[in-house]
Amino acid sequence: MANFSANTPCTLCPRNCNIDRTRNVGYCGVGDGIKIARVGLHAWEEPCISYGKGSGTIFFSGCNMRCVFCQNCEISSYFGGKEISVETLADEILFLQNMGASNINFVTPTHYADKIVSALDLVKHKLVIPIVYNTSAYEKTESLKMLEGYVDIYLPDLKYFSPEVSKRYSGCEDYFENAISAIEEMVRQTGKPLIDEKGHMKKGTLVRHLVLPSLYKDGIDAFSNLVKRIDPTDVAVSVMCQYFPTHKAENYPEINRRITTLEYMKVVDFVRTLGFRYGFMQDRSSAKKDYVPIFDY
Ligand code: SF4
Repeated sequence: MANFSANTPCTLCPRNCNIDRTRNVGYCGVGDGIKIARVGLHAWEEPCISYGKGSGTIFFSGCNMRCVFCQNCEISSYFGGKEISVETLADEILFLQNMGASNINFVTPTHYADKIVSALDLVKHKLVIPIVYNTSAYEKTESLKMLEGYVDIYLPDLKYFSPEVSKRYSGCEDYFENAISAIEEMVRQTGKPLIDEKGHMKKGTLVRHLVLPSLYKDGIDAFSNLVKRIDPTDVAVSVMCQYFPTHKAENYPEINRRITTLEYMKVVDFVRTLGFRYGFMQDRSSAKKDYVPIFDY
């Protein structure tokens, strides 16, 4: 069983650091408090998530993946942000709902899952919009079980298939096995995607994949192995092309460029053959630094 409470060694995610987060930090780089870097309406998620005034995003500091090409490295690896209490997190959730957010979107929440549950316990009875859990998918199934009944929409980013690839860019050989088991648990909790007549997602699991330069074959492998474990009608999918080289990408020549249209379309065309009912593509113009949010909390 994963460990969630303060003063006990943290095993909340597959890194299993086993450290006391009141005294030390583990791979995710943050202690026992809650640190957030941005609260605001966000227009750039998939249209089924960012409709109306936008998705109500809360960006958390730290990350249990720390990918070498992270576009949010300012907060994932350099830990920008401000410490807040569970009560303040609950207030921010209500603030976003009052601003007209289409949903509450927790971005990179894995290492705060227990705190998020505590905050939601304070405000759940006042919420009328869906809760979105926007994660790298490098999650433990038993930690996700804690979120059952709290999360309406899971947005797992299925990053890699090959253990060599996940080790090279994120330092974890066991990524795919953990991610696919996590997605199975997400689907068990949410059921099939529920997207209403206006195209607004109310419930379900939307699996994303960011196509990486030189690695479109790994993306194809990720999707072909996804459908070996998950019925394609049980999830929506989104193939993203917003990659641009940043953070430590210059040390990895094969990913130190944008992706080509050909690389992107090879993944998209393959995904189209798999029988997903709902799928999203991204405009190539989104591969710009301008689309990285400003972390100004
Ligand atoms: S949540 Fe952080 S400290 Fe806990 S196991 Fe994962 S990386 Fe380690």
